Amino acid sequence: MMHSKFFWKNFLSFVVIICFTTFVVSYLLILQAKQFIESTTTDSLQEKLVIFAPYFEDGVSWREPENVKKIIAVAHEAKTRLTVLDQNENLLLESDPIEVQPSENQKTRPELKDAKIKSVGIDKRISPISKLETLYSAKQITTSKGPLLLRVGVPMHKLDDRLKDIFVALGVGAAFGMLLSVLIALILVRRITDPVSEMTKVAEAISHGNYTARIRRLPSNELGSLGEAINRLAEAVEANISRREKMEKIRREFSSNISHELKTPLTSIKGYADTLLEGAIDDKENNLRFLRIINNNVERMISLVNESLNLATIEANEGIVELTPVDWKPIIQEAINRHQIRMNDKNIKFKTNFAAESSLVKGDRKAMFHILDNLLQNAVSYTPASGEVELNVDHSPRFCELSVRDTGIGIAKADQSRIFERFYRVDAARTRNEGGTGLGLAIVKHLVIQIQGTISVDSELNRGSIFTVRLPSA
Ligand code: ADP
Repeated sequence: MMHSKFFWKNFLSFVVIICFTTFVVSYLLILQAKQFIESTTTDSLQEKLVIFAPYFEDGVSWREPENVKKIIAVAHEAKTRLTVLDQNENLLLESDPIEVQPSENQKTRPELKDAKIKSVGIDKRISPISKLETLYSAKQITTSKGPLLLRVGVPMHKLDDRLKDIFVALGVGAAFGMLLSVLIALILVRRITDPVSEMTKVAEAISHGNYTARIRRLPSNELGSLGEAINRLAEAVEANISRREKMEKIRREFSSNISHELKTPLTSIKGYADTLLEGAIDDKENNLRFLRIINNNVERMISLVNESLNLATIEANEGIVELTPVDWKPIIQEAINRHQIRMNDKNIKFKTNFAAESSLVKGDRKAMFHILDNLLQNAVSYTPASGEVELNVDHSPRFCELSVRDTGIGIAKADQSRIFERFYRVDAARTRNEGGTGLGLAIVKHLVIQIQGTISVDSELNRGSIFTVRLPSA
């Protein structure tokens, strides 16, 4: 992550900004410091001029050699170069003799000119003798013997020494500041670039078909929200893809299954039709039987096609059904009416029990009828003559359970988990005789899911089965 181009671009931008700012600020500070030192030094030079002035006031006694010596000693003590000139700028006293050169033209010195006009003057220049940059301040004073020019000067290198100290302190401070800023920038930049890099990687992975890729580290800021959005998008894509793959698989299986399912009755029809054509049509004993077999097979094919269409419609509408309060009672009545004749034919005893007053659920009338109709159909089909079929409705504040119990052939444990699959039949030959297509429970399961319910089976071989549908109470 540290090596991503994105990281370096951002980090280096920060470093450049930090360095640039530090240098500019340091440069301005040093400039300010230099100005400050110069102005305080100028002030102190002017103070010195005020201090030196009384020595010269009477105009005579300072010229005595003893006094000259004393004044020079004071100037040395004050680490100041003192120069005294008359009104014509002729040199009268110089505390630093090295500076005194006959060629030196004092008349070109601006601080003296200013002192004569404005009583004080200052200047900074390189001394032609010491070759040192020197700061001068001059003042014109009046004595009993006429005006005198006093001038004091300090070499700039003394000031530069002070400046150097400031420079070092500033340098150390700036270096620390820069280091700290760079560290903070590193943390800040990583906080942004790390998640962005991860998001880029994940987004690329998703675009290359890895739909399970997710962003693991979600920061608690806008980037986190972006990451969550990408994750949600990935989930949606993954769900869609897996749904599409599942549908594709179902469709493939369905086509192959239905062709297979249609092949059996078609072969039978073809066989019996051929037999009839080859002369059996005149066989008074068998011709009607053959025709009935053909007819049965055609009916089987019709119900196979109808149920397939049913299932396809249910699947297409998955999630679209609107749930409303529906009462089981009238549905139960209608379903019983439909199977009453078959139950009477098989001498099956039938009972309905309502454990609670209400049988109101949140569901869909049509779907609920279809579910119960199918369950009753199976209960009657797979229960031998003189058996029992019982319908129980139990209602609690949260759920309503409807169960169809029979005393029929039952379903082995191994088959119980598979009976809801399309075309799955426990005993193909036997159920086909019952007119079963193997689609009934698949349709039931889909309908139950569609109305947000659940279905379960409890069965024991040769003892009977209980199918229970649980729906939310209304
Ligand atoms: P079919 O149209 O064959 O009845 P279903 O999907 O309704 O198809 O049922 C699948 C299989 O489950 C049936 O073939 C049958 O073997 C078994 N089955 C369903 N209901 C019962 C039941 N009440 N008792 C015993 N077996 C059952």
